[in-house]
Amino acid sequence: MTMTLNRVSVPVIVDEGKCIADKGCTVCVDVCPLDLLAIDLLKGKAYMKYDECWYCLPCETDCPTQAIRVDIPYLLR
Ligand code: SF4
Ligand code: SF4
Repeated sequence: MTMTLNRVSVPVIVDEGKCIADKGCTVCVDVCPLDLLAIDLLKGKAYMKYDECWYCLPCETDCPTQAIRVDIPYLLR
């Protein structure tokens, strides 16, 4: 068995049960200063497209349904 230190998931987690991108919301996409988030048009849900997060958090705080959780790495807390 091989050990890997690669992260298996991106830091911004979207709860697809709460995300209302299918109803036209694009708040998180609009507020991210780095344009890291996007809407998956097939699913109608937001997701993290580019894993280069600054952990600035407006995506999490501005989401109207609290669908976003930003997983801040331990060393940055
Ligand atoms: S702000 Fe929230 S509800 Fe709106 S698209 Fe982003 S994750 Fe979905
Ligand atoms: S924490 Fe900041 S950089 Fe990271 S996805 Fe959210 S808005 Fe973008």
